[in-house]
Formats: sequence, C-alpha cells, structure tokens
Amino acid sequence: MKRVLLILMISVFWLFNSVSVFAAEGKADNSPDWFYPSWAAEAKYNQPIAVLDTDTGLGRYSLHTKEISLKDLARIHGHLCDGLVISYIEINAVLDKLFPNGVVDRTDLRVVSKNGPCWVDASSMMTGARINFQTLRIDSTIGDGFIIQRISTGEAYDVHLKPGVFPKEQAQLESKIRKLRSQGQSVSAEDIDKVEQMGEELSRKILNLPPEEILVIKALPDYKFVFNDMFGNRGDIINKNMLRTSN
Ligand SMILES: [Zn+2]
Repeated sequence: MKRVLLILMISVFWLFNSVSVFAAEGKADNSPDWFYPSWAAEAKYNQPIAVLDTDTGLGRYSLHTKEISLKDLARIHGHLCDGLVISYIEINAVLDKLFPNGVVDRTDLRVVSKNGPCWVDASSMMTGARINFQTLRIDSTIGDGFIIQRISTGEAYDVHLKPGVFPKEQAQLESKIRKLRSQGQSVSAEDIDKVEQMGEELSRKILNLPPEEILVIKALPDYKFVFNDMFGNRGDIINKNMLRTSN
C-alpha cells in the first residue's frame, strides 16, 4: 500500500513538473515596443498562452509547446486595438476552460466569430481555426464575442463582455464614423483621435480587471458547429411525387 502511495506521489510530482516545464517553453516576447506600449506589456491580466501544434506540414504533434503573447498578435494583426484586446481576453478565458492543463491544442479547435478584422485575426491566430478548413465560421450575429469548441470532446462555450463593459459613447462614436465613411463623407481628425483614446482606455481597463468581472461565459451542451449553411438540399420538393388521400 505504501509502495502504491509512493508511486502515486512520484507520478503526481512528475506530472506537475512536466506540465510547468512544458508551459514555460518557447517563451514569447512581451517587451514594450512602438506598437506595444508598456501599459499593455505590464497589465495584470495580460498573460501569454501556451500552445501545441504540429512539427511540419505533414508533421506529428510537436514535443514542445510555445507561447503566444498579445504582442505577437499586435505584430501580425497590424496594431494593438481594443477589438484585439477584448478578443484576447475572451478567447483566453474559454481556452482556460477547454484546456485545464494550460496547453492549448491548436489542432483541436473551431470557432464562430463576427466578421471584424481584429476578431477574426485573434481567433484564428490563437486557436488555429481557419475558414479554409471549415473550422472558423464567420457569423456577424455572434456580436462582440465568440463560440469556441474543442473538436475532440465537443465541449463548447459562448463568451461575451458583460453588458455595460463596452462604453456606450464609444459604440456611438464608432457607428458615427463608420456611417460617415460608408456615405463617402470625411471624418474629422478630432473624432478619430477621440475614438482611439476611448479604445486605449477600454484596453487598459480590460487588461487590468479579473476576466470573471467583465466576461459572461456560458457552456453550450451538445453544441452543433455548422460551417456552411449556405448550401443544402431543397426541402420543398421531397414529397412532390407522394400519393394524395383523394383527388
Ligand atoms: Zn484591430
């Protein structure tokens, strides 16, 4: 009995150590830069994620993990913006639930995202989901959040900001700017400065609040991911040759 207990303790110790060593591999760069201000780099809830991928185009699972930081996302997406920050925090919170061991398997995820540049980029880069593999569904009815599903288990969550977290004045100013541009009208420099300032304030706030204070995460039992509902079989013709009860 003692021997079994000892083996169990050694196994738990080994597992604990291997997971923590595993998660610290492939360190991300989180240093401030001209496109990555120090307030973002130093924010309390800005933590990199550890991901697992395959080795090559035809490769097996890698034997090591790597970190992905908000700076990595900003670099590839093109800028640090509030949409990217919201996406980062939202997706990170769901990945924590889907991968309790702290290592995100980027071969095993599919996502529903709205059609926004920051949202699609963040979800694709963080999860490995892609439109061309039918693992990234673009659906604007999802709004400012995501549905993320672990393919192998079917476990899925919907994540959104709590009502009131996104400032109403910012939403109104963003709509005003988009509307003006869609009508071919110019936008004042002051309005662009103001909306950028609001975005920065929101990013600072979101990166410094505990995720549970700003997010609503709902489990979606038996969630059925649909990639493409644009094509299907026509339903109104399936009975066209069936018998009638009378003339
Ligand atoms: Zn952006």
